[in-house]
Amino acid sequence: MQKVMILDVYPDNSNKSCKDTGGGYGTSHDYGDSFFSSFIRLLVRKNVSFPPLYLPYVITHLENQGLEVNVEMNYHEEFSADYFIVISSIIAHELEIELIKALKKRTDKILVLGAFARFNSQLYENAGAKVLKSEPEIYLNSHSFISLFEGVETHQTQTFNNQLTLPKPKWDKLIDLYQCKLGFLSFKKVVPIALSKGCPFSCSVYCTYPLEQGSKVRVRDIDEVCNEITYIKNEYGIDNFLFRDPVFTMNRAKVFEFCESIIQSGIKIQFAMETHLKLLDEELIQVMSRAGLRLIYVGVESSSDEVCEEQGRYTIEHSKQVEMIKLLEKYKVNVKIMYIIGFPSEHKKDYELNKKLAKKFNPLYIQLNIFTPYPGTQVYDSLKNQVTSERFMDFNQSNLVFAHKNYTKEEVRKMISEFYIDFYIRFGWFIKFISSTIRRIKDGLYGRS
Ligand code: SF4
Repeated sequence: MQKVMILDVYPDNSNKSCKDTGGGYGTSHDYGDSFFSSFIRLLVRKNVSFPPLYLPYVITHLENQGLEVNVEMNYHEEFSADYFIVISSIIAHELEIELIKALKKRTDKILVLGAFARFNSQLYENAGAKVLKSEPEIYLNSHSFISLFEGVETHQTQTFNNQLTLPKPKWDKLIDLYQCKLGFLSFKKVVPIALSKGCPFSCSVYCTYPLEQGSKVRVRDIDEVCNEITYIKNEYGIDNFLFRDPVFTMNRAKVFEFCESIIQSGIKIQFAMETHLKLLDEELIQVMSRAGLRLIYVGVESSSDEVCEEQGRYTIEHSKQVEMIKLLEKYKVNVKIMYIIGFPSEHKKDYELNKKLAKKFNPLYIQLNIFTPYPGTQVYDSLKNQVTSERFMDFNQSNLVFAHKNYTKEEVRKMISEFYIDFYIRFGWFIKFISSTIRRIKDGLYGRS
């Protein structure tokens, strides 16, 4: 049997790194430079980890095609394999290129997967690898892996739709390796899954999700998603799921159908997802909560209307944001708000407004990302002459990588550190944390029994 070795390398630092986030380019967070930042970094690194979502499906495809598959996070010369797959990202880009060059000394059969390579293929091809320019879990559904090394060219395709059936994902080689956890949701194992792909919103000027998944929203067959959940529960004993859809509630009717289906089937799960506050209402929150929604990520990005407008990010009034967060909490859904610090037009007053309103919103968690112009996006084209970083690995949302007109790199890092302290070291947050913890324990020790 021919062997495939999948290699997924990460920077050797204490950051929380993931190649599935940031539209498949990956993110690597260090939370700033203060003592409190180190504390958050340690907590999050120990409690959040999962692989790119396409990986378990790719393993299934390869095994179904008669190949033996192994996955490793470190490369050793003694590894024996007929084919190597390298998982691409921006956050480990230079390491991946070094790895390809080392592999190239022993074989030509190197394939690179993932969004960063798909949209920056030349970088990997110049190092000697072949790049799969389609979504891997979809391409390998109907194409032979080995034929990729026989001169078959691949192109950007986004064919994932209601007609496509994805195989049952094989998680056995990934659960221990990646640990598969999301402590914000549960201390039990958590695996990623998706109901849909694609995002049509205009913030695609800076966001990589529409680049990775297209602007057309493609929803999976609801029965298939429910069957996949049942299979993962029965096969691996996992009942916690992180939906990786860029905007989970984009298709309200399908979300309803999915939740009703979970409720009627009696499957007990907990799940987390990400969406826009504008795409929520009480009826929808109620049904999602009944189906097991316990954590929601919402990207407020910036509380400044001017900053949002300049980046094509639509938003809702601050009073409506507060109302929606309260409604979510009423239905036992914890909220994590994500902010971007260092938008090109941002001033210190906008940052101060973010800090002030974050405390007013008082979600259970916040996450701060430093604005990053990603290659392939419109904003990168407009800022590429101002890029100050020489390594793609610095494009990790923890560094300012371009010359900002109002901030220095050091100032932004200081702002991040101060924002976390200002938000979390508060009586109001402590009360929120205690009440949420009591509720979660009552709900079955951070997991429904
Ligand atoms: S809503 Fe905007 S930020 Fe969110 S995935 Fe879509 S384009 Fe990206």
